[in-house]
Amino acid sequence: MYLKKIEVQGFKSFANKIVFDFHRGITGIVGPNGSGKSNVSDAVRWVLGEQSAKQLRGQNMQDVIFSGTELRKPQGYAFVAITMDNSDRTLTIDFDEVTISRRIYRSGESEYMINNSTCRLKDISELLYDTGIGREGYSIIGQGQVDKILSKKSEDRRELFDEAVGITKYKRRKELAQKKLENERANLLRIGDIIDELE
Ligand code: ATP
Repeated sequence: MYLKKIEVQGFKSFANKIVFDFHRGITGIVGPNGSGKSNVSDAVRWVLGEQSAKQLRGQNMQDVIFSGTELRKPQGYAFVAITMDNSDRTLTIDFDEVTISRRIYRSGESEYMINNSTCRLKDISELLYDTGIGREGYSIIGQGQVDKILSKKSEDRRELFDEAVGITKYKRRKELAQKKLENERANLLRIGDIIDELE
């Protein structure tokens, strides 16, 4: 699997629709300071489901929408799509190409898609678990993550190994199941109280 294409429109400094085509091997993005190099990796981080505006160097999520310049009006929405070559079926979905996209409007309304079908963020997370490219993956190494690798705390380093050996998915499912169990326990207590009151 490899990243074939990134499409951005109205995202940060990219007012117009721009398509970056990538090929196998290493690609470098070069440009003067402030020209938008980091905005490209922000776009990838965002489309994979980043929920923290701070991680994207903004105050709130709508800050990713092109805010206009002296010569151009602000955009009403931001859109990013990344396309991965999946001919080796690294992603467990039966398509040779997988496109994940995300759109956000100024109203705050947003949507995710996998191959042009609307989906939940959870579907994207599940598709990407244990591939290293999810929200918690290590395919985008920001400064904080370098700290994580070097961290003295074994739990921090453990997260990276969990993702690499493929157990993140099961950990998340376990957490969800535990949460559900807790809710059910609380419901049972409440039912018990109601029964006591009625007796
Ligand atoms: P450096 O080499 O200095 O790290 P860079 O090439 O990585 O710079 P970025 O940090 O990606 O540059 O881009 C910064 C530019 O993006 C700034 O000019 C900033 O004004 C612009 N920018 C960020 N968010 C928006 C937005 N919502 N609307 C318009 N422009 C934006």
